[in-house]
Amino acid sequence: MARIAILLNDRCHPKECQWECQSYCPPVRMGQECIIEGPTGKPIISETLCIGCGICVHKCPFDAIKILNTPEADESEIVHRYGYNGFRLYRLPLPAPQGIVGLLGPNGTGKSTALRILAGIEVPNLGMYDRPGSWEGVVEHFRGTALQSHFQRIARGELRAAIKPQYVDQLAEAGQRLQEFVGGSGGDASAALASVELSDKASRPVAELSGGELQLAAIARTLATDADLYLFDEPSSYLDIVHRLQIARILRRLGERKSVLVVEHDLALLDYLADKSHLLYGEEAAFGVISHPLPMRTAINTYLTGYLRDENVRFRTEAVRFTAHPPKPPALRTPKVTFGPMEKEYPAFRLRVGAGVLPKGETIGIVGPNATGKTTFVKMLAGVEPPTTGRPPPGVTVSYKPQYLKATQSASMRERLVALASDPEFDVGALEKELIPALRLDGVLDVALPDLSGGELQRAAVALSLARRATLYLLDEPSAYLDSDERMNMARLIRRRVEHESATALVVDHDVYFLDLACDGLMVFVPEGTEGRGGMGEGPFGMRDGMNRLLRQVEVTFRRDPETFRPRINQEDSVLDREQRAKGEYYYEAIA
Ligand code: ADP
Ligand code: ADP
Ligand code: MG
Ligand code: MG
Repeated sequence: MARIAILLNDRCHPKECQWECQSYCPPVRMGQECIIEGPTGKPIISETLCIGCGICVHKCPFDAIKILNTPEADESEIVHRYGYNGFRLYRLPLPAPQGIVGLLGPNGTGKSTALRILAGIEVPNLGMYDRPGSWEGVVEHFRGTALQSHFQRIARGELRAAIKPQYVDQLAEAGQRLQEFVGGSGGDASAALASVELSDKASRPVAELSGGELQLAAIARTLATDADLYLFDEPSSYLDIVHRLQIARILRRLGERKSVLVVEHDLALLDYLADKSHLLYGEEAAFGVISHPLPMRTAINTYLTGYLRDENVRFRTEAVRFTAHPPKPPALRTPKVTFGPMEKEYPAFRLRVGAGVLPKGETIGIVGPNATGKTTFVKMLAGVEPPTTGRPPPGVTVSYKPQYLKATQSASMRERLVALASDPEFDVGALEKELIPALRLDGVLDVALPDLSGGELQRAAVALSLARRATLYLLDEPSAYLDSDERMNMARLIRRRVEHESATALVVDHDVYFLDLACDGLMVFVPEGTEGRGGMGEGPFGMRDGMNRLLRQVEVTFRRDPETFRPRINQEDSVLDREQRAKGEYYYEAIA
């Protein structure tokens, strides 16, 4: 079996180690040049001489090496390769002439790369990493395939593509105002701003926008561009549940006229948005293979089951199962934490939260638009922010994962484990045996926390907070930066851990699948008073009641998929949508 050897360049620090990869390598010890020093001073691992023993992977003190078997895909299907020991992408998605095509797959498997190639921003090298590619060569490579004409248009400079890149924080020029930014590519900024309801902020400097507003602005900028192909890379990041649903409707309308491609990890959203989707499988930072397109419902059901029959590929060992959440009989519910009404006054914001009961062994979700005080409420319970009136329940041990994470210490997870081993407040056994494996952190235990990717840092923070012995777990937006697979894994882990520890948990999140898998009930936050001046939180309610309260505000209804029981957004004004709205059953009334 042939091998792929990957060197994670950011993690490799050849001046700070003993070149363990080289000195322990059996072929090197036999006198073969399996690992040599390359021109940049970092090792080059020969894929032909490598015997796949994995010793270098374990010996590297920075977890910078991956050795894997080659994927099932054919070498001739490599579209792009970042260097000799770099990532490789096999195949490309195919935009439809009209309508929305999705791209669903794990972090680090080439989705953003694929979008940049289709947009004509990055010339793929077809695997020949040592020389720059040319569009003529690409046209030749795809001759006779459905992508030929696409690349011909790029080669001739005829394709007009508009892309909403994954990272939106670097997009604006210094000092740019919202109106200029959105109209940057010559489009009608006013109409685009109105469609995302940002008209009243048109003259604001972009630098002053919140993360969610910046995302909406970047989406508006793309919508304002006159193009043939529209590409949206993770449009839901930083958006609250209400804005996610709004954007979904706007993009669907665009798809009725134009060709659209969307990368998205919020499965409820992607399911509603796209007509069909490609799945990606592979190994983070090593390789990614793009499947042929599947109808949307099949694509997600396949993803949940974990087995792609046509290509004989398994991406998960265990299928993800949803349940229709019959409410627990009251007799089985014991209060674990009870809180009284609380209020918080900021100079420009006022939050009111009603009294509530958090049952033992249950995970309660917190849902609501941005800037309604969800984080403020969680901080009051965590003892980080004192309430103006009322007080957090006394005698409750809390473990708190803040919304915004920053790795302040340069320690690695392994060093944290050693430091925590003698701390009675931490269950280090559970961290090692359950949390780290379940959150797939084994491969990054030796990486300094500030060097972790956003998703890895999120998973590390959740692992550490779930390992703390507590009565109440407070997790603020734990699904941010995670891919769909990681979200579903984490949701099930939180639920299992809270149940097993007979603790209780509050989890703020915007992903409906995540909430549906993790939670037994919901608290609902709504804006109060004039624009952004106040918020009110109520609950916990049962899942169905809570979702009804939330969805009523946005006029969106969900049904359940009969096969997997996963929630699915009803098409606007479909028969089910109208029936459910008339009955006030916004969430999973009908199972058929
Ligand atoms: P995704 O969007 O699926 O998360 P990307 O397309 O951003 O994946 O990247 C896939 C992999 O390619 C990354 O894990 C990274 O290792 C590698 N990669 C991305 N961009 C570059 C680059 N400019 N140079 C070298 N490697 C890169
Ligand atoms: P959410 O988590 O629902 O998005 P937050 O609790 O973060 O909402 O914020 C609610 C409102 O409170 C925001 O309008 C924010 O500007 C305001 N706010 C939050 N923290 C502070 C603070 N430390 N000082 C003043 N205002 C604050
Ligand atoms: Mg990406
Ligand atoms: Mg918040």
